[in-house]
Amino acid sequence: MRLVSTLFKLFLLLVLLGANDARTSELLTDKVVARNAPIRVVTSFTILEDLVNELGGEFVNVVNLVGPDADAHTYHPKPSDAIALTQADLVVFNGLAFEGWMSRLIENSGYVNRQLIASRGVDIISHGDEPDPHAWQSFRNIRVYVRNITRALIAQRPQHADALKERQQQYLNALTALEEQLLSQVSDIPISNRVVVTSHDAFGYLGRDFQIRFLAPVGFSFEVDATAADVASVIDQIREQNVRALFVENIASPRLIQRIADDAGIAVGGPLYSDALSEAQGPASTYREMMRYNVESLVIALTPGRQPLATQGHDTSPQGGQVDAR
Ligand SMILES: [Zn+2]
Repeated sequence: MRLVSTLFKLFLLLVLLGANDARTSELLTDKVVARNAPIRVVTSFTILEDLVNELGGEFVNVVNLVGPDADAHTYHPKPSDAIALTQADLVVFNGLAFEGWMSRLIENSGYVNRQLIASRGVDIISHGDEPDPHAWQSFRNIRVYVRNITRALIAQRPQHADALKERQQQYLNALTALEEQLLSQVSDIPISNRVVVTSHDAFGYLGRDFQIRFLAPVGFSFEVDATAADVASVIDQIREQNVRALFVENIASPRLIQRIADDAGIAVGGPLYSDALSEAQGPASTYREMMRYNVESLVIALTPGRQPLATQGHDTSPQGGQVDAR
């Protein structure tokens, strides 16, 4: 009897152990699947979307909020944006007060996972207390973005660290090659000729890297319209400094620049891509294409004897940059 009872207990123990084993291996399988699933990343705007896709490759699944040719300064989040956030492993945004709506969106959605401010550690240009948020318009700064993003992706999937570091290195090499090529194109233009007007003050970093002076009637963001005095001051500067090139931007209405061009008697070039990439079929659908397109457009406009590229097919809805007539 005692032997039967012992055998029975042993049998029970084996059954329990077996069940436990099955459950443990099920949980382990779930973990392995989760660890190998693409990282769900939400990005605030197209330039970050492109960087995360370039650096993350098959290891990421990106949902982007502010789309091509759209203005992230004045964006109004949609209910679906909050849902995207709740499902994300990682949220990447620019910071430097570029996406003022982001912190409220994060708070309202109850998002709890990792946030990455992609610009952290860049060399900032400031006007008084106000940082210029357009830090991505600099090759020097974008390398900092690249390293920040790769580090955040590795933190999510350490088992893919080698592959992610390899992707980072390839991307950095491509950036260096492009930067050298563009710097050599700009070097032929006398520095005194390198003055350009754009609708808002988005190219300070590009100007610093390439020694080009950008003038703009509107400040860092379209949240405040240009006054008649701002416009008059830009027209004065155009005349005084013999400005050769005026450019519209992909995210803004061309009306303000057109009016300045008419008053100053200069042709309009562009668009330059400032705060958003183009649609996939456009000339600036990746960060690298954008940098190439912008700098090559500037070189054409600033080279004596060559005309700015004509403004064609620039049909963005008016979102700002109009003259405030008050
Ligand atoms: Zn901007």
